[in-house]
Amino acid sequence: MTSPAGDGQHYINATFRDPLGGRTGPVLEKATGARIGTYARGDAADVDLAVRAARAAQPGWAALGAPERAAYLRRFGNYLETHYEDLVRQSMRETGGVRAKAEDEVGASVRQLQISAVQATDSAGELLQPYKTGKLSMSRAVPLGVLGIITPWNYPMNLAMRAVAPGLAFGNTVVLKPAELTPVIGGQVLARAAAAVGLPPGVFNVVTGDGHDAGHALAEHRGVDLLDFTGSRAVGLAIAASAATDLRNVRLELGGSNAFVVLDDADVDLAASSAMVASLEFQGQTCISASRHIVQRAVAERYLDAVTRRAEALVVGDPLDPASDLGPLISEAQRDRLHREIVEPSMAMGAKLVTGGTYDGLYYRPTVLSGVTPDMPAFRDEIFGPIIPITVVDTQEEAIELVNGYPMLMDSVFTADLVRGLAVAERLQAGEVHVNDAHARHGAENQMPGFTRRQWIGLQREPLTLPDWTADPAGRR
Ligand code: NAD
Repeated sequence: MTSPAGDGQHYINATFRDPLGGRTGPVLEKATGARIGTYARGDAADVDLAVRAARAAQPGWAALGAPERAAYLRRFGNYLETHYEDLVRQSMRETGGVRAKAEDEVGASVRQLQISAVQATDSAGELLQPYKTGKLSMSRAVPLGVLGIITPWNYPMNLAMRAVAPGLAFGNTVVLKPAELTPVIGGQVLARAAAAVGLPPGVFNVVTGDGHDAGHALAEHRGVDLLDFTGSRAVGLAIAASAATDLRNVRLELGGSNAFVVLDDADVDLAASSAMVASLEFQGQTCISASRHIVQRAVAERYLDAVTRRAEALVVGDPLDPASDLGPLISEAQRDRLHREIVEPSMAMGAKLVTGGTYDGLYYRPTVLSGVTPDMPAFRDEIFGPIIPITVVDTQEEAIELVNGYPMLMDSVFTADLVRGLAVAERLQAGEVHVNDAHARHGAENQMPGFTRRQWIGLQREPLTLPDWTADPAGRR
């Protein structure tokens, strides 16, 4: 069988190229451990080549005009749609997610491209209130320049696309470094799409490689105008600290310990079924997975029974088998972190294992822990695995107090009283809170509009007499 284009190679300046250092690594199918491809293990020299190509291409790409850029994005989206089934299977094999997860990932990427194509041709700015009569004041969106984009392994294609598509739409050029555990679905296939639709050289570049090597080099490169990083808090902190030394521009999308609150009047079955999605979808390996379940005592026993029953009924197996609800974890390192640093120490501190807690290779049984207290890793840390840790509280106030104070992305509140739900939601400090629901399914439709900055433009009819403020006799401004 011949290898697909770009297997084991970077994509720089519209050319698939071997890594300058000559190093490559295997791409593994997570369900079986089989080798299904090769990735280039890039280093600083490869990154530098890609950033230079992106810099050289950026003025021409920005000058192209929004309609032409939008047309490229639509063709990019059409390419992904045409290869939809192959991409879904690639995602299932490379990330270990079941079909629904893979379809979500590829579908969201296509929608993102379509939405960005429209945004690119939408209003280019605003007419502002002038500060005094006779002046005309407006702002327009201008590209930032070269975007460095570093992505994680859990939703590799759409987490790349949510930055790549708006970035390109608004006239920026891109160097993408996908996670080393998913370099094909997160990078190589996007390079193939770019080549197929004929994106001009240097506009979209993919350098694969390891975080400490290619990732670090991209994060440190002074030719990058904005580094867009999605990944762990630990790496995000290191990037932020380094960027602070010379005020480089970074945008960080990190993780947290999300809370799932069940109040004493909640519909317990609704809460328990939502908990399966919130904590177990894609084996709990999403940044918005519920990491802590905080339940009022009045419903705690019923809730524990309901989640345990549902968790025990789930089938764990190869994601290519339609019977599987959960696939394998992403890696042995991730499994060992989950088991040895979260589950075992929490049990040693007094948490009770209600179900699960066992694994076979990368297949980890859905696990319910009860009696979890705030000092335990199962409460404090981002879990990133198929674990439901349950903490019981007496009052709503206690629940709110326990939820806040940790980094969070998304919380849920379950209650029969919508007004009560909204009142509690208002007091939780997550970026997004759901009442009687789990993950948001808004995907690409609600992403940030684009990677632009505001450029102020001032026009006036008469030449200015400086200093201008003398024109205001009362000196009030
Ligand atoms: P990670 O931080 O280990 O890796 C993410 C990316 O950073 C990879 O491409 C990796 O190669 C690269 N990297 C690693 N070390 C680096 C370094 N020193 N310098 C530059 N780049 C480096 O994260 P992960 O394990 O791939 O992903 C899981 C994490 O991502 C979780 O914490 C999760 O919450 C978070 N996440 C956040 C979002 C979000 O939108 N907020 C979405 C998905 C995942």
